Amino acid sequence: MDLGLSPEQREIQGLAREFAVAEIDPHAAAWDRERTFPRELFARLGELGLMGVCVPEEYGGAGADFIAYVLVLEELSRADAGVGVTVAVHTSAATLPLLMFGSEAQRRRFVPPLARGETIGAFALTEPGSGSDAAALRTRAERLPDGAGWRIDGGKQWITNGAAAGTILLFARSDPAQRGARGISAFVLDAEHVQVARHTEKLGLNSSSTVDLVVDGAEVAADRLLHEEGRGFAVAMATLDGGRIGIAAQAVGIARAAFELARDYALQREQFGRRIAEFQAIQWKLADMATEIDAARLLTLRAAWRRQQGLSHTAEGAQAKLFASAVAQRQTSEAIQILGGYGYTKEFPAERYYRDAKVTEIYEGTSEIQRLVIARELLGLRERSEP
Ligand SMILES: Cc1cc2nc3c(=O)[nH]c(=O)nc-3n(C[C@H](O)[C@H](O)[C@H](O)COP(=O)(O)OP(=O)(O)OC[C@H]3O[C@@H](n4cnc5c(N)ncnc54)[C@H](O)[C@@H]3O)c2cc1C
Repeated sequence: MDLGLSPEQREIQGLAREFAVAEIDPHAAAWDRERTFPRELFARLGELGLMGVCVPEEYGGAGADFIAYVLVLEELSRADAGVGVTVAVHTSAATLPLLMFGSEAQRRRFVPPLARGETIGAFALTEPGSGSDAAALRTRAERLPDGAGWRIDGGKQWITNGAAAGTILLFARSDPAQRGARGISAFVLDAEHVQVARHTEKLGLNSSSTVDLVVDGAEVAADRLLHEEGRGFAVAMATLDGGRIGIAAQAVGIARAAFELARDYALQREQFGRRIAEFQAIQWKLADMATEIDAARLLTLRAAWRRQQGLSHTAEGAQAKLFASAVAQRQTSEAIQILGGYGYTKEFPAERYYRDAKVTEIYEGTSEIQRLVIARELLGLRERSEP
């Protein structure tokens, strides 16, 4: 599909594609089977500039734009959706909010190691009692005497990269008198401030690490507060507005992997003396898959373009994620159907794509919440309390 990409965007897309084919594809099945988080891979992605694609060079990034970044996410996720989400959370949910909301001192301190891939980033919002209703979070941040900083207590659930992260963007209630979204602040924590309480066993996405974290009276200096006190929920919502575009790109990558597998298989598999690609039923499935994937990619690129232009992208990002995640879910199932019994076995990656696709309808806001976000934007009802 000719998307009118710039030479730089094409170059970065090509770099990510080449790396994914050579260094990720061959290992993805084993990482899935053995539930391996390939830590060393991210250092190599860092060397290539792919851990900070859209971070300015002066902060250690590759200095490309947000469109280049979503193209990279599609390529990585086509090979391994777990690698895709690791990079997506690291970049759009940890590095970019630090750039967007950090003081200059915070940016200089925290962003370069993240952008170079020396440190991995995480985003800790969800708790056992607060998922879609993120504003109900209970983790507490109490001021230490004499403005010396903050003491943080609480627990976070299902935190991607949580066990590997050196920098964790964590949300806590700093004013218990305020209910809901008000009174929440964002903090920048190090690995030493949190303990991993549990590794989560998942349906798919097994090469990504998902953990529960405990923060047990961690004391952090005042300069760990990100943005203004009590304005953390706005940080979280703005982060998710951009993050969703990355998850849409991840979903496009998974769907594309399923399509390419099904197409190649259909051109080889023979039944009734003909290649199954010659049956109209299979042709129609492949035609629908290709059409839906292109549509999902275009919605994703539209949202990425708007973000890059500094235009509002709340509804567009939610639309891209809503649509692309449904496409991934539907088309990974169709890929299994095209492969028949082989699709249901571990001999082919179709079943992995199917398992990996489901979560794109859940994290960074479920599909129900995306519809709420879109409807509120359409109707001009801008109350924001969902992730
Ligand atoms: C693999 C994985 C990785 C994750 N990584 C992270 C991470 O890095 N950081 C982080 O902070 N969180 C992370 N999460 C958490 C994720 O964002 C939440 O699971 C998600 O926001 C949904 O919350 P919940 O699971 O508590 O579901 P719930 O909010 O309990 O929702 C349950 C059901 O009710 C529906 N529902 C809820 N409210 C409404 C409503 N108002 N209207 C209509 N329907 C509604 C939902 O759509 C859903 O179908 C991760 C989750 C998973 C599974």
